[in-house]
Amino acid sequence: MKVFIAVAICKILYFIGSRVGRGSSLSGQIAMKVCPGALKRLKLPKTVIAVTGSNGKTSTVEFIARALEAGGMSVGWNYEGSNQIEGVATLLLRTSSLRGKVRRDALVLECDERYAKAIFGAVKPTVLVVTNLCRDQLTRNGHHEFIFDRILSAIEAAGYGAAKGKAAGGGAAEGEVADDGAAEGEVVGGGVTLVLNADDPYVAAFAGKEGGIKSGNRVVWFGVGRGALCPNPSAGDALCPNPSAGDALCSNLSTGDALCCNPSTGDALCCNPSTGDALCCNPSADDAICPDPLTGGDVAPIYDDGAFCPVCKGRMAYGYRIAGHYGDFACCACGHSHHKLDIEVTALDLLTGEIALDAWAATEEGRPGARPSVRNGVKTRLRLPSVPGAYNLAAAIAAVAAAGLGAGDAARALDGFELEGGRTVRFSAGGSEGVLLISKHENSMSYNQSMAWIVGQRKPCTVIVMVDSISRKYYTSETSWLWDVDFDILGDGCVQNVVLAGRYFNELMARFAMSAVDLGKCSFVGDIAELRGCVAGCGAGPVYAITCFADKAKLLKAFE
Ligand SMILES: [Zn+2]
Repeated sequence: MKVFIAVAICKILYFIGSRVGRGSSLSGQIAMKVCPGALKRLKLPKTVIAVTGSNGKTSTVEFIARALEAGGMSVGWNYEGSNQIEGVATLLLRTSSLRGKVRRDALVLECDERYAKAIFGAVKPTVLVVTNLCRDQLTRNGHHEFIFDRILSAIEAAGYGAAKGKAAGGGAAEGEVADDGAAEGEVVGGGVTLVLNADDPYVAAFAGKEGGIKSGNRVVWFGVGRGALCPNPSAGDALCPNPSAGDALCSNLSTGDALCCNPSTGDALCCNPSTGDALCCNPSADDAICPDPLTGGDVAPIYDDGAFCPVCKGRMAYGYRIAGHYGDFACCACGHSHHKLDIEVTALDLLTGEIALDAWAATEEGRPGARPSVRNGVKTRLRLPSVPGAYNLAAAIAAVAAAGLGAGDAARALDGFELEGGRTVRFSAGGSEGVLLISKHENSMSYNQSMAWIVGQRKPCTVIVMVDSISRKYYTSETSWLWDVDFDILGDGCVQNVVLAGRYFNELMARFAMSAVDLGKCSFVGDIAELRGCVAGCGAGPVYAITCFADKAKLLKAFE
């Protein structure tokens, strides 16, 4: 009876709310107040995929929903972006029959990383994707190690882990996902299938013993391979050493050698660890071998969240880095290290968006455990090519494969797909083409990746950086995060002008004064209404704007 009342209340309030344009989570919130516990009594579909993490949740959820729908499934997902318990409750209750059966073949739930515990307490996913953990929303989230603990406690509180069934990996050979003959969509071992970013040492720790998760959860690993960002993919190994050659570049991990390097190959291939160069690259061949796409390779990062192991706090070594602390990491003390990828982005063309993937965990037929399809066998295109986009796509394909469907089918369904909640908006900037790259304030990784994309276009351009409201969720005037952002990236010669705008333009000025950007290129605009006039004097070339959701409308209005 309680379920009936909760569903009825939610449906009525949702109907009224949609007519008057009210928020997406209020109806579920009220229904839960009237009938607490109703969510736990709902009959859920066999496939419930939850997505959490710092960045990329919305895009990943949309990719997954699209791929499942293309496979003929009806999908319920919180596309309205309400990712806390109230939003999830609204979705579940409004898509349920009055008897409490959710009338969808699959649910795909974006879950706020702080409130995942509350959500999983009521709704247990069969597949849980963790996209990444990085510095984000300092005021609200603090450090991402705090968020790690929150997600970990969410997983444990939800009672995952196998009281019965197999241990993680199930004895499968390395690189395989345990094939226990489970029926399509069936959860293995009574636990959840974890879809984890193998390149992120924090996320990877969810699978380890030291990470605290009980055994019994399957893990599907996704990530971006070393060669994927090769400047000239056709030149292949000349620019990016063959990862299979492996130990020439780094680490004899079995010896726990903190100094990196396989002694058998001679230290000549590894630099002096005391300089910090040991983590990558043959110094004699110049850092061009494996540049860090964010920093250009030879510039020390502003901060390094990958310097120490999240499990034991030991010194971490990297074979290579894809971005920030994502890469081929290995702790010299406890052995926490990069796992072989099940869904691997093997090539990414940042101009055309073409992507190739290896699918080791799932074949075209979607049978987990089979050996891989042909190398680069899964091809697709990103509508707006970027490294974060490649991670989101790989996460989505991994999640779909983990749910028992074909990775190849998912890739085909996502070919050229344009995300509804896309992070890029085109606008007219006077006589120039304008591109708004929505980047999260308080999130240096998001800013860095947007700037890397801009300089990657290799066009003479103007860049607007606007900080007016720091968050749309809460008020804060805290701007220390600006000092985590690597604005040196805009020191690239293709950036002709930089316009710093918004209420916090003074803070931006102070930050840019300490960057590699020539202040002679910079203009400062406190009143957003003057932005258009300021940019008009900047000359030809595209105008790239970096700002957050909170400031998106204000920026676009200035150019109307
Ligand atoms: Zn460690």
